[in-house]
Amino acid sequence: MDYTDAQEALIAHMQDTGALTSGAVETAIRAMPRHLFVPPAYARHAYMDEPMPLAHGQTISQPSTVVVMTEALRVKPGQRVLEIGTGSGWQAALISYIVGVKGSVITIERFAELAREAKQNLRNARVENVDVRVGDGTLGVRGEKFDGIIVTAAAPFVPKPLEQQLKTGGRLVIPMGKVVQEMFVFIKTKKGLEQADVLGQFRFVPLVGKYGFQ
Ligand code: SAM
Repeated sequence: MDYTDAQEALIAHMQDTGALTSGAVETAIRAMPRHLFVPPAYARHAYMDEPMPLAHGQTISQPSTVVVMTEALRVKPGQRVLEIGTGSGWQAALISYIVGVKGSVITIERFAELAREAKQNLRNARVENVDVRVGDGTLGVRGEKFDGIIVTAAAPFVPKPLEQQLKTGGRLVIPMGKVVQEMFVFIKTKKGLEQADVLGQFRFVPLVGKYGFQ
């Protein structure tokens, strides 16, 4: 099946709504076809701007949400990025395309089955610079520092390890709140995290972990 028209319609829709603003993210969407990242039964709905169910009651965020967050992260070629909440792997794939072969992405998923499926999706899309790990992403990756960190589940507060693992000048994109979430963008300064933006309300599955919901 040829999804080109559907993909172009979704890109145009996200430009109209203001979710998609940069050429870098637009190119990444074309390079990382979303139908490769959704369960096969849903492939023909891959270019609708809707969330989709995943195993274990989790969801693949709707394309606009993934795109708004990717734009807010403002990643650049060569950077090292951490994602918490791999889900389908599509968000990691978009970021990995922008950071390019000299950059890399570590993505952490708490459900092993979802991590396994995401790895397969990334392989199908020929993505080689994403390291998918299973674990509690609220702990981040000990001893590492990142240019950008993106949390794709609803957090009660900023997990301390993630603040510590963000380089000075780096950006953190994180939805926070219990029932409905506000999407926060922080920049790490020498004094700590400074709020740079709030991007409106979203709905996410909870971030469950030591520095998340219990
Ligand atoms: N960005 C993903 C995509 O493109 O498909 C969607 C992610 S989904 C909305 C959120 C994911 O976060 C779920 O798969 C959930 O299992 C995961 N999650 C929740 N708490 C977590 C934690 N502490 N560590 C790692 N993953 C977590």
